[in-house]
Amino acid sequence: MFENLSERLSGVFDRLTKQGALSEEDVKTALREVRVALLEADVSLPVARDFVKRVQDQATGQAVTRSVTPGQQVVKIVHDALVDTLTGSEDPGALKIDNPPAPILMVGLQGSGKTTTTAKLAKRLKDREGKRVLMASLDVNRPAAMEQLEILGRQIGVDTLPIVKGEDPVTIAKRAKTQAGLGGYDVYMLDTAGRLHIDQELIAQAAAVRDVANPRETLLVVDGLTGQDAVNVATEFDDKIGVSGVVLTRMDGDGRGGAALSMRAVTGKPIRFVGLGEKMDAIETFEPERIAGRILGMGDIVSLVEKAQQTIEAEQAEKMMRRFQKGQFNMNDLKMQLEQMQKMGGMEGVMGMMPGMGKMAKQMEGAGIDDKVIAHQIALVNSMTKKERANPKLLQASRKKRIAQGAGLEVSELNKLLKMQRQMGDMMKKMGKGGMLKQAMKGMF
Ligand code: GDP
Repeated sequence: MFENLSERLSGVFDRLTKQGALSEEDVKTALREVRVALLEADVSLPVARDFVKRVQDQATGQAVTRSVTPGQQVVKIVHDALVDTLTGSEDPGALKIDNPPAPILMVGLQGSGKTTTTAKLAKRLKDREGKRVLMASLDVNRPAAMEQLEILGRQIGVDTLPIVKGEDPVTIAKRAKTQAGLGGYDVYMLDTAGRLHIDQELIAQAAAVRDVANPRETLLVVDGLTGQDAVNVATEFDDKIGVSGVVLTRMDGDGRGGAALSMRAVTGKPIRFVGLGEKMDAIETFEPERIAGRILGMGDIVSLVEKAQQTIEAEQAEKMMRRFQKGQFNMNDLKMQLEQMQKMGGMEGVMGMMPGMGKMAKQMEGAGIDDKVIAHQIALVNSMTKKERANPKLLQASRKKRIAQGAGLEVSELNKLLKMQRQMGDMMKKMGKGGMLKQAMKGMF
């Protein structure tokens, strides 16, 4: 899967990994080629442009992690940006099937893999969630398609609605609904007719079925090998019928993968599943991490960079801890803690994670330290000189006044901050003796 894009990108990164340092110009050159590679992989122009711009913003000015090459670092950044582009807000595999019998409408062009996907999903719901599923084919123009679903149903042990010759799709949909209700099914899946191209009749039929079935999910099945066409098909189906998600089939082939990247960005619709073969188990929920890894074909580099970053964070934490144990806790440390708190959901979030800090949190609250105050405190530290931050004992009246003014705050607030810094320093020292600090800091990093 995605060989072409992967090869293109490795070519670019091979050149990068041979360079010692990564200048802004290097990043630009590399990303120009990433952009060309994306376009050649059938990613739409606006998506490619947006993607490259995001990566450029992130890469420029980012420190290169020690023990990896700049090129490896860029791979990681490109990877993360890919994941970002591919990620939706919801769990792709979670189909809305509460309130039985829940209707699922399957739409798509002929040959996209719609019938196969209907059966694969039915099997999945049965095997993984223990659901009772009823499948019905509405493809009245192609008796072979109706029989195909019946055969698949028998193969996977899922019931199909008996075929009645001469019925129109809306009638079949109504019969499926009734049957699903009477038969105590959890889900009924409607496999609509496909055409070779989107035409009015196809859309009108799907819309009529949608209106009687009122589906909880309308899944569009598209052939992942068709690249940009798949995105166009999705856009049109979504405009005319409204879809809740996309299933990309034939992702086991040597497709160019651009469809996966553009789909979400252009249609705004999440990719829910990918088809990975003809067998009934060859379907997986869409996983951005995995797809991004495959697009890049550089999963090993990504994990290497992640590991290197973790190691360095651990080293830094270790160093910091040794200083804390000696009672060295300056304004830089305090600022880092404050920023960490902001990142981790404020005071309560952090204190909850650190054993022995519960009492401290209460004290701080008592002293009027809440999340709004954290921002003020960071501003106060920012307004100190380097020397003052390293050695807060330097802070006499005139310096205090200057710092408070610089932050647009009162000296009394600075005094509170200083008190807090001293208290935290004392506490760290005490905790360090009992080995509690080590434990507490594990929660922080
Ligand atoms: P429909 O016309 O949209 O209902 O398409 P079908 O479900 O009949 O599928 C058309 C062909 O594509 C069949 O031979 C399927 O076995 C095959 N197919 C479906 N999904 C996949 C997939 O994810 N990978 C591969 N390799 N083949 C698939």
